[in-house]
Amino acid sequence: MKANNYSALDREALMQKVQMQMSTKRFKHVLGVEETAVALAEKYGAAPEKASIAALTHDYAKERPKEEFQMVIRRENFDLDLLNWNNAIWHGIVGANFVQRELGIEDEEILQAIRLHTTGAAEMTLLDKIIYVADYIEPGRSFPGVQEAREIAFLNLDDAVAYEAKHTLLHLLEQEQPIYPKSIETYNRWVAKK
Ligand code: GDP
Ligand code: FE
Ligand code: FE
Repeated sequence: MKANNYSALDREALMQKVQMQMSTKRFKHVLGVEETAVALAEKYGAAPEKASIAALTHDYAKERPKEEFQMVIRRENFDLDLLNWNNAIWHGIVGANFVQRELGIEDEEILQAIRLHTTGAAEMTLLDKIIYVADYIEPGRSFPGVQEAREIAFLNLDDAVAYEAKHTLLHLLEQEQPIYPKSIETYNRWVAKK
């Protein structure tokens, strides 16, 4: 039964396929992102169904072994610089490729929202912003600042993107983690004063 226009699977079937790919804890996170993304879509006038599908699939590949990502990066002609990164960066950018091939999701806006969900980007559609922010503020998240991020998200979505980009970068710098160039582009576009 084809229950929507963006995926060959209905929501229940999609949920089941996603659930099989991850721990109970991560699946609970995914459902929290879905609930939040749908609420943001309703608030800001995006298609709730697209938000639902993008949210349900955004971390689909997160528990795949490193070797599988490396193989797909080579086989599908991704930028080979990706081989210098890790799961944190791969599971969105490369993960969208798993979602497309294994779940049959061909909607380019959904795939792009999955690709950008970890780092953001200089250019982001409404759906990209919704998934990026929903991932950060879903009800299961607890870190200093999350409550403020939640409040901002329902006042002004661009401000929420900026808040998240800035605080993610601060956190990564504090941990002396490598910064993926796209995260810097996000900062320069959405945070830095012109
Ligand atoms: P999750 O998949 O729901 O846990 O959330 P995300 O996909 O947003 O983030 C996954 C991880 O990637 C988090 O630990 C982020 O802090 C981390 N991350 C985000 N941007 C960067 C970056 O530029 N460099 C590195 N090294 N990690 C990043
Ligand atoms: Fe993620
Ligand atoms: Fe996530």
